[in-house]
Amino acid sequence: MSKRTEKIIRIMIPALLALMCAVIAFLGGRVSNLEKRLEGYRAATQLGERESRLVQLSWIEENAYASSDISELAARTCSDDYASLAYPSDEYEAHPSSGAGLYDRNGVTYAAGSDSDGVHRVYLTFDDGPSIYTDDILDILDAYNVKATFFVVGRESTASYARYLRIIEEGHTLGMHSYSHIYSDIYASPESFAEDTERIRSLLEDVTGYSPVFYRFPGGSSNDVSATDMHELEEYLDSQGIIYFDWNVSSGDAGKTPLTPDQIIQNALQGIESRDTTVILFHDTAAKHSTVYALPSIIEAIQAMDNTEILPITYDTTVIQHDHP
Ligand code: ZN
Repeated sequence: MSKRTEKIIRIMIPALLALMCAVIAFLGGRVSNLEKRLEGYRAATQLGERESRLVQLSWIEENAYASSDISELAARTCSDDYASLAYPSDEYEAHPSSGAGLYDRNGVTYAAGSDSDGVHRVYLTFDDGPSIYTDDILDILDAYNVKATFFVVGRESTASYARYLRIIEEGHTLGMHSYSHIYSDIYASPESFAEDTERIRSLLEDVTGYSPVFYRFPGGSSNDVSATDMHELEEYLDSQGIIYFDWNVSSGDAGKTPLTPDQIIQNALQGIESRDTTVILFHDTAAKHSTVYALPSIIEAIQAMDNTEILPITYDTTVIQHDHP
């Protein structure tokens, strides 16, 4: 190698290195800018999706959405809660122990306070959550300044924990709806029922710091799938200081045949003005977007009724339990 070539190489190598560094720095900056823009687009799209979920989704879009979520639902479906629609609503009576506005539990008498004051009390209850729609439901309740009741199942994820907490923090009632929601497990024996109940109770207690006291049986207390005498399970809950609630109006939002939001609205509003206490069954699951869609109209219609209040379930609520053999 001649001296001249060597000199050229000695000059060229640092120059080339400097050029490569400059190119890398430039490309790095471009990538970082593009990433930022992409993030911006992502956020905007999510916001758009969220808004469209609340406001714009048509019935057809909703069904498309639902079918894409089938896998989540498949694991734990609750369509049997749905047996209820088959019953005419006047077959439901307040449990005999609820008496005329008073009921006695564990030696404590609670004033149910509904039968004499002429106020119609309406309780919106949401089973099977938390789900991807819990936050939408909570946003709507918040917008109308309404408190409701969520009968939840066990879901162990950060998102679900946040939803359990949000329900409590925003003043709603957090009730239990079993841990697994798998009928064949829960209702296999009194022991398996007790085990499942303890599991959901301690999960909610760990996450929220509050011990839940209200329960809704998967399928309702009048279900015909339990392998165990339901009276035995009711006694168990009673021994634990847990009060169970069925419903006397079903919105129909979890039927095997999906209903339109209009049909859900019509079902949910049935007979409210003729009852002292109305407990309406809704579902909070990934496949039931129609519930979210129908909810604002339902709340507005109830709020427009005379002498009618929407309340969360508390010890003051007249207990609604199904009659069953
Ligand atoms: Zn359910």
